[in-house]
Amino acid sequence: MKKETILSESRDPVFRNLVLKSPGCEKIPTCMQCGICAGSCPVSHEMDYTPRELVRMIQLGLKQEVLNSNTIWICTTCFSCSVRCPRGIRPTELMEALKPIAIAEGVKNKNARFDGVFSDVVKKNGRASEFLLISKYSLGEPEMIKQVPFGLALISKGKLPLSIDKMENTSELGAIFNMGEKKPEKPEEKQKTVTTTKAVDNEGGAEK
Ligand code: SF4
Ligand code: SF4
Repeated sequence: MKKETILSESRDPVFRNLVLKSPGCEKIPTCMQCGICAGSCPVSHEMDYTPRELVRMIQLGLKQEVLNSNTIWICTTCFSCSVRCPRGIRPTELMEALKPIAIAEGVKNKNARFDGVFSDVVKKNGRASEFLLISKYSLGEPEMIKQVPFGLALISKGKLPLSIDKMENTSELGAIFNMGEKKPEKPEEKQKTVTTTKAVDNEGGAEK
């Protein structure tokens, strides 16, 4: 974790409690910072905060630092950390719980963007075309221009096929994506729906 003073105003207990209610995150307050999760993680060197640090940041309620970190998008969901944690904490599930929160908060993160492009390609074609994925992602990342010689070398050696493999019928896949993209009803809206339904029942003299 960066060695900076943590200001009390950067701590968000509402965010902390929201995360702790997510499946697999209930035991986060028991983390003893042993670091087994970080030591087991095959991609921690690519993360700006290791799983151990992220767990600590959740304990402290550091919402902005957590949601803007690349850690949640770099995680490969390999479960090494979750199966080894001596306290039964599931950092893998923590990463999955944080993604929808980050998306709902409109976090702009280039790793999150990669996930979005990937889903988009799969949704439209039913397959993950490497060529489409790289070209679409590169459009929004000027730094990718440096990778052009490498890409051309791959193409010349037949390692990056330009043909796009597509599923015959992607309509069912589209329906699955639509279900996943449907925003959850806010608790207050759900309450309003229940109240309205009850009022209609009462007006109509529904039998109990
Ligand atoms: S392995 Fe478990 S207890 Fe140890 S630092 Fe990671 S989350 Fe905390
Ligand atoms: S599940 Fe994610 S955080 Fe845990 S060890 Fe694997 S890559 Fe690292």
